[in-house]
Amino acid sequence: MSCNIPNPEELSAAANLGSALIVRYHEIALKGGNRAMFEKKLDLNLRSALSSFSQVSVRRIRGRMLIRADAPAKRMASAAAKVFGVSSISTAIETEPDLEAIGEAARAQVGEILRRHFAGRELVRFRVTSNRAEKKFPICSTEMNQQLGGLILPKFPCLKVSLNNPEVEVEVDLRPEGTWVFSERLSGPGGLPVSSTGRALCLLSGGIDSPVASWLSMKRGMRVDFVSFYSFPHVGPQTRDKIIRQVENLMKWQPKSILHIVPFTPIQEAIRDLCPAAYRTVLYRRAMQRISSKIAKRMKCKVLITGESVGQVASQTLNNLTVIEEASYVPVLRPLITFDKQETIDLARKIGTFETSNLPAPDCCTVFQPEHPVIYGQIDEAHAAESLLELESLCMDAVRTTEKLHFPERT
Ligand code: ATP
Ligand code: MG
Repeated sequence: MSCNIPNPEELSAAANLGSALIVRYHEIALKGGNRAMFEKKLDLNLRSALSSFSQVSVRRIRGRMLIRADAPAKRMASAAAKVFGVSSISTAIETEPDLEAIGEAARAQVGEILRRHFAGRELVRFRVTSNRAEKKFPICSTEMNQQLGGLILPKFPCLKVSLNNPEVEVEVDLRPEGTWVFSERLSGPGGLPVSSTGRALCLLSGGIDSPVASWLSMKRGMRVDFVSFYSFPHVGPQTRDKIIRQVENLMKWQPKSILHIVPFTPIQEAIRDLCPAAYRTVLYRRAMQRISSKIAKRMKCKVLITGESVGQVASQTLNNLTVIEEASYVPVLRPLITFDKQETIDLARKIGTFETSNLPAPDCCTVFQPEHPVIYGQIDEAHAAESLLELESLCMDAVRTTEKLHFPERT
């Protein structure tokens, strides 16, 4: 005989209780003296991620945050699951510190889980785990577990207690600040809250790598702005649209950003006309670093970020990476430096940038690409090639004519 699960009306009293999100964080909790600053950023970022819901309140309670809003808890949970710094989230029922009330909330949670995940199952392994942080509560946590089991089991004949290997675990958190009952933990992205570690400028191409590098930088708490080099008419407006779409994808993880679109045609044409063909890509990249450094200084971004990875293409040998980086005035971070392509693709799919990266639109680096690019570039040879260009004035012109787009759009 399969489990007889009471219908929602039978558990309706529980539906009248308050629901909330419990948001946990891990790395921030390990911080010392500046922990409060990280918590404040997380608090602000959660409010911003939930700003489309009405009456949101966020309360910090000893190493976790409690969120209430006038909205379905499940929808709030999926928005909060995109906030860096969050390690896990539970949708919880808030109740009174009273065994009968806790039992009622627990039955509602169990009923919902059985309906969603175990319909038709004859036997489901189960346990109750109580955390009695409110020491005034008259019984200890072991006794609470037993008494709550006694209130839950008779309603659901399919449940069988299994302390070591439960499929359904109802957790009760009883604290001086309140009592919560929950039974699932949704994973958050981890890391540190965006804007807690400083501002960075990511060189964003239309490819797979640089959006992933941006995401990983956001995960380490950087607020990331973007710069993209655009060679119109050698590449068409679809390349520009693709970059904009990619920034929009990344806004799910960081709600505000700026994209700088740099006209790159005059520089590429000058390099094509005046410099050795083998050095073209390396010189394009050096010009990108030079211009990006200027923009970074203006925008108070402390570092540049690229999607480079050792050995991926000719411009990413150790020699060429060294020659390219030498043109930057600010440090260059490369989160993907040791990733292989498959690892990057897997992550791109997970974070929702892969599909856009796959849209057909050429990158400016493919314009006038030489047949035999230099593999072991030398800094003195790059300097000699650049001495044939009016490089500083070309770069200043590029910065002057850069288009600056705000996300979300400013009204
Ligand atoms: P991606 O690396 O993003 O998949 P890709 O593979 O086409 O794109 P690469 O040739 O690997 O590009 O370029 C290495 C890095 O140089 C990119 O990850 C990006 O940071 C930067 N880059 C390349 N082209 C551009 C561009 N048009 N605008 C801004 N940055 C660029
Ligand atoms: Mg690449």
